[in-house]
Parts: sequence; C-alpha cells; structure tokens
Amino acid sequence: MAQLYRFNDCLNRVDQAEKERKEIIRLTEDYPELTVEEGYFIQEQLIARRVAEGNRVVGYKLGLTSKAKQEMIGVYEPSYGVLLDYMQLEEGDPVPYSELIHPRAEPEIAFFLQEDLQGPKVSGVDVLAATKFIFPAIEIIDSRFQNFKLTLPDGIADNSSSARFILGGRPFKISDVDLSLMGMVMTKNGEVETTGAGAAVLGHPASAVAWLANKLHERGEKLNKGQIILSGGITAAIEIKPGDIIQARFDKLGSVTVKCSD
Ligand code: MG
Repeated sequence: MAQLYRFNDCLNRVDQAEKERKEIIRLTEDYPELTVEEGYFIQEQLIARRVAEGNRVVGYKLGLTSKAKQEMIGVYEPSYGVLLDYMQLEEGDPVPYSELIHPRAEPEIAFFLQEDLQGPKVSGVDVLAATKFIFPAIEIIDSRFQNFKLTLPDGIADNSSSARFILGGRPFKISDVDLSLMGMVMTKNGEVETTGAGAAVLGHPASAVAWLANKLHERGEKLNKGQIILSGGITAAIEIKPGDIIQARFDKLGSVTVKCSD
C-alpha cells in the first residue's frame, strides 16, 4: 500500500507540474528510496495518462548518452523517455515559452525507422538497417524539477525531461554520412555556444538506439516501424529565453533552426 501511494503521489506531481508549468522539488527528496525501475513504472503511467487524454506516442528519446552528462549526475547508463505527438514542432513553429518552465535546447540526430526493432541483442548495424532516414534535430528539454536538480529515478519518472522537439526539414539516407565523425555547431542568436561530434553519443548514435531497443525488451516493449528516435544530445543543453534563435548546423546534414516565442 505504501508503495502504491508513493507511485500515485509521484505520478500526480510530475503530471501536474507539466500541465501547470510549475516546477517542483525532486521526488527523491520525499522518497529517497525511489529506484530506477520505479521511475520507469511512473513514466509508463504518465504516458498512459497522456494517451488517455488523447495524445499519441510517436517515438522515444534517449537521455544521458554522453560521458559528461553521466558523470554530472553520477550514473553510468543512459535513460529514455517517450515522445508524444504534441511535443513535435515543425521547423518555423515557435517554441511555446509560455507552456514551459526553464527550457533548454540540445542538438541531436533523429532516426526514423522503417522496420520494428526488437531486443535482445539488437546491434548498431541492425539499427542502421532498420532506419529509413535520419534528420538533424533539436530537442527542447524542460525538467519539471527546480533548477534541473534530479537523480536518475527522478528524471526517468519525469519522462526524461521531454518537452518538445523539432526535426530539420530534409531527411537523409543513413549511408550519406559517417555519424560518429560528423561535426556539429550550435549557435544562439548567431553566437557559437557548443560544438561536438556524433561520437559523443555512446560512440555512435546508432549504438544509443540499439541500447534503447534492448532496454525496452526488458520491459516487454519494442521500437516500431514509423517511430522517431532522438538518439541523445551531442553536446550539453543550452538555456533558451523568449526571442532566442537556436541553430544546430551539422556536417552534410544541413541545419535546423528554432525560435523561442516572445
Ligand atoms: Mg536529448
């Protein structure tokens, strides 16, 4: 019973924080015993609630795929979250600042699957074979926790800080580019903020997607044909404020630009 109460309380907190755009103290402040597994259970319930409200699952995102980020919160494996239709913005749509708490932008490679990917033992090569297109992308993350202060179970329960995402207008064949060597520059209002290469994402973005397929298998799930997978931030996320223009420019893949609403 105590466990059920804890799950429901955590679920209601992250749900309301997103809807009411109100930051909350991390869940592990009140429930230090919360585990990663329980975090995923709460995330599942949160997504079920969003689907019951009329939203649709369109894919997944990976988090904590870079060594730098893992070290920042002292964990040594990635995490995932679920992407819903309302999170997807078209390039040119403003990022709706009034709906978000403290958004940050990060550059990513997005995969669009033409085949299901079911673990166990999915490899990076399997991911490349199952991918129809890749897109340059920007993910807008927005932790519901005060000052982005969270532990791994908190972040997972909060759907891994998922908020919005934007795919570049033009799809590419995966064979067009070596993703691990591919360089990227992200600017804010024309000034360079961060630079990186695809190898920052678990050595290769396809390895991150393989990790996800295998992790989902443990939970009785798989990746489905037609889903979009954000493979993880290539660099640290940067803060965005009303009116900011963020551009991520990738070798060979061109660029994706977003403007934050005023
Ligand atoms: Mg991300």
